[in-house]
Amino acid sequence: MKAHLAEIFNFTCDRDPKHWWSSDGIRPDIGQMLLCPYCGHKNVVTEIVNHTVTLPSVEVEATEQKLPTVDEMVGILNIEGDR
Ligand SMILES: [Zn+2]
Repeated sequence: MKAHLAEIFNFTCDRDPKHWWSSDGIRPDIGQMLLCPYCGHKNVVTEIVNHTVTLPSVEVEATEQKLPTVDEMVGILNIEGDR
């Protein structure tokens, strides 16, 4: 089985933060106007915030089905802080 990573954009209305919607596969441009589907407010895209983390590819034997342990993931992601 292959797992595919898709790009999804979440938008929040400037008029009411409870108004939010998603769009996959369509990358907005800075300065682009987007109408809120709930109230019709004309929002302008001012910033694209990237919350994704790029994971290194890990080769796993097909018969092994082994997931990395938490300690291995911490090492892979090089996370620092209290543990
Ligand atoms: Zn709205």
